[in-house]
Amino acid sequence: MSSRKFFVGGNWKMNGNKKEIDAIIDFLTVGPIDSNTELVCGVPSCYLEYARQKLPASIGVAAQNCYKVAKGAFTGEISPAMIKDIGCSWVILGHSERRNVFGESDLLIGEKVAHALNEGLNVIPCIGEKLEEREAGKTEEVVFAQLKAIVEKIPEGKWDSVVIAYEPVWAIGTGKTASPQQAQEVHGKLRQWLAENVSPDVAQKTRIIYGGSVTAENCRELAKEADIDGSLVGGASLKPDFVHIVNATQ
Ligand code: PEP
Repeated sequence: MSSRKFFVGGNWKMNGNKKEIDAIIDFLTVGPIDSNTELVCGVPSCYLEYARQKLPASIGVAAQNCYKVAKGAFTGEISPAMIKDIGCSWVILGHSERRNVFGESDLLIGEKVAHALNEGLNVIPCIGEKLEEREAGKTEEVVFAQLKAIVEKIPEGKWDSVVIAYEPVWAIGTGKTASPQQAQEVHGKLRQWLAENVSPDVAQKTRIIYGGSVTAENCRELAKEADIDGSLVGGASLKPDFVHIVNATQ
């Protein structure tokens, strides 16, 4: 087993209200959550402070997006400084819904990653190929290009604040999980790319987590793979079964 701490992110997306969030907080508080897993919940921005105040301190809270500068005339955006100001220390960036619904480019995502890291946030940058790209045999080309745009912007000494999420777009919210072998194949290649293009040390220590229809049923098989260091979970993170996913290595 690797020395990398198992990491699970719950991405609530644009779901929940205070009552529903209370229910999620309840099942996470009751847990029990394996202390060998690092758990972070991605919360809608208007509930970040609420969730931070109510969740146990051992569970991290992430924004699901932020902008690339500290403040200014950017209506509708929030900055890393604001996220930190309300006590949260993580942000998810470049999720496929940001890329494909809101048209975020590799360049913008790289700039956001750089600013968030420089401001002291921990970042979960997301990459992943679409179905037509996989079917055209372009998975590696696509994920390496997305990773390169992010890696180029990671400031010196900030790699400990980065958890990379590989999320094939065809598996997100579709019920079609990549098989453990399919996911491991890409994770292994991403780690090799990091070794060759950043350093063997960064490749060895950086967590690469899988996202795409992870459930309580498939999480254990995924977690057994050598280069899969955890999961980023959308739909299943809203339900009590999420605790099983968090504890997938037990
Ligand atoms: C996600 O939102 O990052 C995700 C992987 O969603 P789901 O688990 O619902 O596929």
